[in-house]
Amino acid sequence: MVRRLGFSLSLVLALAACRGTEIAAPASRAGAATVSTQNAGDTRAAKALFGAMSTPSAQTPESHGGYASGCQAGAVQLPETGATWQAMRLSRNRNWAHPTTVDFVQDLSRFAATLPGWDGLYVGDMSQPRGGPMLTGHASHQTGLDADIWMLPPNRLNLTRGEREELSSISMRRSAGAYTNDRWTTQHMEVIRAAASDPRTARIFVFPGAKVAMCNWATGDRAWLNRIRPWHGHHYHFHVRLSCPPGDRTCEDQAPPPGGDGCADAQTWVDNILNPPPPDPNAAPATPRREVTMARLPVQCTGVLESE
Ligand SMILES: [Zn+2]
Repeated sequence: MVRRLGFSLSLVLALAACRGTEIAAPASRAGAATVSTQNAGDTRAAKALFGAMSTPSAQTPESHGGYASGCQAGAVQLPETGATWQAMRLSRNRNWAHPTTVDFVQDLSRFAATLPGWDGLYVGDMSQPRGGPMLTGHASHQTGLDADIWMLPPNRLNLTRGEREELSSISMRRSAGAYTNDRWTTQHMEVIRAAASDPRTARIFVFPGAKVAMCNWATGDRAWLNRIRPWHGHHYHFHVRLSCPPGDRTCEDQAPPPGGDGCADAQTWVDNILNPPPPDPNAAPATPRREVTMARLPVQCTGVLESE
């Protein structure tokens, strides 16, 4: 019962978390050449179509479009269990991704397995078999380049399917994300630093208190901190976002983060959690998430859907 509650709560938080600007930011090349007029009139809801696909397309692997408005051709599956990882919540069928992402997750899990107390990684949502928008959950994770990694250090990698549905990750935050809690360890920072230092990585999303903790912990080279982006939620898992793989010509990268280590911005976020500024009376009301129609996806996504 408690576990179930924990899971539903983390799901709600994940939903809230992935409804932001940066995490679901439009591609840096707005109106990129991939958006075609060929499917301009296709008002079908993309999430219903992509959410119904249970197998990958029989195509060469390729990411099309942006993280929050795209799809993936020829996705590969992260094997459900490896020597240093397990994919969680198999019923969701979201352990699919670009081959680059699958390689990345396996590499990171091998590093994690070298750390005391960590047998490897528990891997949360990646993408649907053909990517695209989802019926539930994330706004991003559409192009096979996003992966959620659980904060719970694995102490066994022989969880059954059932256990992978029931087990919950653990939260790392206190004071609404201003600080890390007593479950947070140096090993968490080592895993996240390794992920951020990988040349395949564009961004890592994690709660603000964790970024500040890593800012205070880092010695020497601080370049990797630039790619650690404080964000809502992201205290049960951290989110790895890879850059477009070389050669995927219709894949749309996000603009890179502002220069520097980003530590002052993260500290400001923390300060605002602890002492919230008065609400801005002129603030625009939050805009609801816009329905992604097929017309908003690159035309190649129609081919991804129609492929065998
Ligand atoms: Zn995510």
